[in-house]
Amino acid sequence: MGQQETAKQIWDYLTSRGWTKQSVAALLGNMQSESSIIADRWESDIVGNMSGGYGLVQWTPATKYIDWAKSNGLVYQDVISQCKRLEWEVANSQQFYNPNMTFAAFTRSTQSPEELANIFIKYYERPLNPNQPARGIQARYWYDLFQNSTGGSGVSSWTWPFTKPYTGVIYLDGQQFGNTSVKRGRGYFHDGFDFDSSVYGPDILAVSGGEVIYTGVMGDGLGSVIVLSIPPYQVMYQEFSQSMSDIFVSVGQKVTKGQRIGQLNGGTHLHLGITQKNWRAALSSWDVDDGSWLNPIDVIQKEMNNSQEEKGEIEMILYKVTDSKSKMNGSIWLFNGEQLTRLDGTSAAKLGQSLKNVDINQAEMSSFKNIGIRTVGDFQY
Ligand SMILES: [Zn+2]
Repeated sequence: MGQQETAKQIWDYLTSRGWTKQSVAALLGNMQSESSIIADRWESDIVGNMSGGYGLVQWTPATKYIDWAKSNGLVYQDVISQCKRLEWEVANSQQFYNPNMTFAAFTRSTQSPEELANIFIKYYERPLNPNQPARGIQARYWYDLFQNSTGGSGVSSWTWPFTKPYTGVIYLDGQQFGNTSVKRGRGYFHDGFDFDSSVYGPDILAVSGGEVIYTGVMGDGLGSVIVLSIPPYQVMYQEFSQSMSDIFVSVGQKVTKGQRIGQLNGGTHLHLGITQKNWRAALSSWDVDDGSWLNPIDVIQKEMNNSQEEKGEIEMILYKVTDSKSKMNGSIWLFNGEQLTRLDGTSAAKLGQSLKNVDINQAEMSSFKNIGIRTVGDFQY
């Protein structure tokens, strides 16, 4: 599992357990320095050294956590097991010692990710040098990346057509996409997916940002129809009512992901169809499986997963290495959200005047590699 996936797993679990986004971001900013957010991480990579640190927050000695996990029947290498340990510490006032704030209050705090990252290092991690502002920068990174995500759907630019997500429940054969047991026209092909109105609705949502290219009430059993252009797709909503008054958008209008575009009214279901062709041309293949229509469930799931990989917008960050033991001491780096670039010579000297100095050690530099950031220039360590 990659660093971002692990971070998202921790984010989803702890926010679902009542931690604020700011407190989880602060935790992740610290974990990034402690373990590169790798659950099965031994201190200095000395595997099995029970007197050293272990895990996402580097519990020390390792036995403190591992013995607890084993006695609770948990797999100690597991990310969620380690989250459960944190919850146990919150419930039992362990590990976090702050005269002004309990661990429980920390998990409910809406102070900034930077402030909470500093509180966490000072009162939970308690290293020899608690002055490590890089952890605050990292906390901000995770906060910005995940803050608009909702449970399970990541930072996706796509969503399900209802506020209730697709449940994965096996629907009646005739409601599935593809060849079914129900006779239709020239065969048994069903060109979309029927979302049952007893389960979903009534609000019907745009599955992603796009433009309205058709609205109307059509014959041939189509009923109310809205078609959105969401390149490379055209997405057709049909059969959800028999009236224009259940359609809340008009042709030419731009819509955003999750925008309410209509409502289920009187019909038994919303039929959702997705094609990469012109929708009117594709309609001539409504009863033939010739590739004109795609499985809407597959397309939505794929697009939701794809867009989760996209990086959030990140401001440019300049780093200066101030680690006297590092070969890179004094070097200046620009991080633009994707790429870490070493700046040298006059350009660096100029930028250096407005530089926000941060203390960043080599382990933290290497954690950028772990999240897939390409580095340019001399980056030996
Ligand atoms: Zn249908």
